[in-house]
Amino acid sequence: MNKAIFLDRDGVINKERKDYVKNIDELKIFENISECINKLKNNNFLVIVITNQSAINRGLTTIEKINEIHNQIQNHLKKFNTKIDAFYFCPHRPDENCLCRKPNPQLIIKASNDFQIDLKSSWMIGDNDSDVFAGENAGCKGIKIKNNMDLPNTINELIKNLDY
Ligand SMILES: [Mg+2]
Ligand SMILES: [Zn+2]
Repeated sequence: MNKAIFLDRDGVINKERKDYVKNIDELKIFENISECINKLKNNNFLVIVITNQSAINRGLTTIEKINEIHNQIQNHLKKFNTKIDAFYFCPHRPDENCLCRKPNPQLIIKASNDFQIDLKSSWMIGDNDSDVFAGENAGCKGIKIKNNMDLPNTINELIKNLDY
């Protein structure tokens, strides 16, 4: 079985925008992210993004543009010899009451099936309560960070406290 760190995207990997990150021109990747992901992978975690992207079904962007954004993140990480193992996104608006929008656990559970992940040895890290609840609802642990600046320390603490 594998273990994973599930990461929220907006506010954690890239700067959040109130009007949504709708295309690669609006994507501002945080500088510390490659180092954070490298550290997780060196500790045998898969790194998987779980993100709500209601801008798709709000008609503000498209699945193609969201995939371009994710490719752009991967191209950035490639320069630092690292990568995200997979991106899972929910395209729905809250009023659609879908099963995949965080705090629902469905995307995390799908990822755990796709990658044979032991959820009890895995964490979901995000900057919203819904990230923590999605993790807990899936059977892993949830950590809420205030913003991206908290991510390096959070990862260091998490790794320090692993019992091998
Ligand atoms: Mg967020
Ligand atoms: Zn959904």
